[in-house]
Amino acid sequence: MRFFNTYSREIEEFQPRDPAERKVGIYTCGPTVYSRAHIGNFRAYIFEDLLQRHLELRGYNVHRVMNMTDVDDKTIRGACEANIPLAEFTAPFKQAFFEDIETLRIKRADEFPAATDQHYIDRMIEMIGTLISRGLAYQADDKSVYFRINKFPDYGKLAHFDLTQLQSTGRVKHDEYDKEHIGDFALWKAWDEEDGDVGWESPWGRGRPGWHIECSAMATALLGDQIDIHCGGVDNIFPHHEAEIAQSEGVTGKKFVRYWLHCAHLLVDGQKMSKSLGNFYTLPNLLEKGYTGREIRYALMRVHYRAPLNFTWEGMEEARQALARIDEWLARLREVIAKKIDNEKNKTRPREQFEEALDDDLNISAALGFLFETIRETNRAMDRNELDAPSAEAWLDWWKRINKVLDLETENEILLPAEVAQLAKDREKARREKKWNQSDELRDRISARGWEVRDTKDGQKLTPRGTS
Ligand code: AMP
Ligand code: ZN
Repeated sequence: MRFFNTYSREIEEFQPRDPAERKVGIYTCGPTVYSRAHIGNFRAYIFEDLLQRHLELRGYNVHRVMNMTDVDDKTIRGACEANIPLAEFTAPFKQAFFEDIETLRIKRADEFPAATDQHYIDRMIEMIGTLISRGLAYQADDKSVYFRINKFPDYGKLAHFDLTQLQSTGRVKHDEYDKEHIGDFALWKAWDEEDGDVGWESPWGRGRPGWHIECSAMATALLGDQIDIHCGGVDNIFPHHEAEIAQSEGVTGKKFVRYWLHCAHLLVDGQKMSKSLGNFYTLPNLLEKGYTGREIRYALMRVHYRAPLNFTWEGMEEARQALARIDEWLARLREVIAKKIDNEKNKTRPREQFEEALDDDLNISAALGFLFETIRETNRAMDRNELDAPSAEAWLDWWKRINKVLDLETENEILLPAEVAQLAKDREKARREKKWNQSDELRDRISARGWEVRDTKDGQKLTPRGTS
């Protein structure tokens, strides 16, 4: 397996810390919970979901942590404007986030630490103390504590950033005059009036953590001093991830992250989808327009994570059509199996091209290309009645395997072929009229087409055979 590592700017062979146990620790920067996440954010989370699922398919034991940024400038501003406590302000956005990842079938991380958890606040304070004692941080006249980037020679290596350029611009924001260097970033922000009742006591006075130290503290607390893979969107590279490296390595003295993976943005008319530009859609916005969670999942997943993806309505329609093709193909395979077709001319069997494409820096476009080529070929064989039941079963098994990564199968109702739906309707009528013999006969006919009928108090339920 190979990944493009932002740190080296090269494709590297993947070697986890613990190859024998096949354990992989992943840290992914989670949402800032000051409003509902937009689908641009979900492009990042779906890329991370794909990464996790593919590693799992290849037999790795993934332990993934995703943080909740529930204290920062934006969340504090929101709570102040709403005139409610910070935790009360962020709670509905956290809940909305969990609803949205479920709709998009994004696997839940093993842990979702929140920055405001006292346990992590304590750790942040401890880390800042260590950085000060090593000369890597200092308290300025404004009472805030800053990281001293000149004392960390590797600063800028992730972003490939030239620090002399940073100095030469000479731009100094008026509220940052206390810093020694324009690039020094806040570890601890001294309390001011705008913070209202948000604040924690620390050796440097009342205040709150900077965003970057939050991630360093939660990541090292839950995954140890070294993490296998750290992800985020490209906008996180600088300063956020650069700062995470400086802080974590400044404390532990060990290499913080082995592989840095960053996804390109979801764009609208060539610009990053973002809240500040106002060019965003939330998941409910798209659901209201009649798109389903899996259609949106597919639309956000189908392009390689390092290529920018333009959001368009045509793209949504293409996603819908692509999924309809998959649904129809699965229904046809099930029919071949149910009818026990034994006329075999097409002996092709699934190989590993799909997985191999994903091994290659998660090349999902190539993987999906292979899936649709397979669909085209097997459909052609089925048109000629030349795909036998064992072959169809092999392809169905293959689908079940790759669908562990894709998670794109529809709910059963929509998958019902028209013919089966009609038989089910007839059977419902027969049962209402208490024509039991007819009802039983219809059950057999439905069964012959690969569907099982169960009678429940809510009426009959149909499931493809072999799935219940
Ligand atoms: P935020 O809530 O702004 O901290 O963002 C959460 C995650 O979403 C980060 O990993 C960002 O890099 C990512 N992100 C934000 N906007 C976009 C976008 N338009 N496309 C892809 N990822 C994004
Ligand atoms: Zn982060």
